Amino acid sequence: MSEPCILCGSTAGKMLFRATDRLYRTTDKTFDLVECSACGLIRLSPRPTPVEAATYYPGNYWFDPAQSTAGRLEELYRRWVLGDHVRFVTRALREAEVGQVPDLPAVEQKISGSLILDIGCGGGLFPGMLRERGYRAIGLDLSPQAAALAWKQHAVPAVAGEMTCSPIAPNTCAAVTMFHVLEHLDQPECYLREAHRLLRPGGRLIVQVPNAASWQFALLGAAWNGVDTPRHIHLFRDSDLEKLLVKAGFTPLRKKYFSLRDNPAGLATSLAPSLDPMARRVRGRSESPGARLAKDLLYFALVLASVPFAAAEALARAGSTIMIEAQKPA
Ligand SMILES: [Zn+2]
Repeated sequence: MSEPCILCGSTAGKMLFRATDRLYRTTDKTFDLVECSACGLIRLSPRPTPVEAATYYPGNYWFDPAQSTAGRLEELYRRWVLGDHVRFVTRALREAEVGQVPDLPAVEQKISGSLILDIGCGGGLFPGMLRERGYRAIGLDLSPQAAALAWKQHAVPAVAGEMTCSPIAPNTCAAVTMFHVLEHLDQPECYLREAHRLLRPGGRLIVQVPNAASWQFALLGAAWNGVDTPRHIHLFRDSDLEKLLVKAGFTPLRKKYFSLRDNPAGLATSLAPSLDPMARRVRGRSESPGARLAKDLLYFALVLASVPFAAAEALARAGSTIMIEAQKPA
């Protein structure tokens, strides 16, 4: 094993399984998933180079709502299931401010003026929902098309680029959010350190990743949607993510194991990847309107049927995603 583990530096690893891109089929290559012998963090080995990794991302890897009834219905659904994320982040902001200012009306005013940076904003729905609620949210994404869509669809000021060269002054953000970003990175600690630099003292970082300590991974292994080879370079357990946050200078405060958007849908996609709407869009299969509707309804039924299991594993603190609020020490 050549490359050292990003958490503990050990180069020793145990082969877990071999996987390929079963979701988007961008490549026929197979990849080894290796568990660090010292700390247990799972990584792709060898890690793809940045140039190679870029070829594993389809061009339309974000949601672009179609101007049709189905498109509008899908956006309504996406807004509804994103409510969890919005509530988690606004609570973190309120608590950050209440800690500093005990006067509640003033707190609301102060929060609305503070900057929230969403890393990996995609089409901008999440920062857009924060802006609709009066927060000053902005976005950053590697894709110029995604950043343009965020401006166009949700009036979100968005910039395309690497987080490590973002045009934002240090110590200015009240919150930085990264939903499903860290698992894609070769060196996730760089992004965390950059978030630390951009946050003001006492500011909050909210991160979400698939949880490798979930029942879904234990039961499904390589078929679990959270593995997403070769786009996921690291598979974190909740404890790995906490260690990484501490290593980058953060204090973890709060954890959540259930996401209405991600956990039931993740199970549905694991069980029937060929029904996943994004995978069907990305793979560009031609479908008659009737076949599309039937597949959409079947997938939605599978998502609904997955809710009880996703809720049960989350109650046992083994949900298929983990969201953590962490603080830059004041
Ligand atoms: Zn390790």
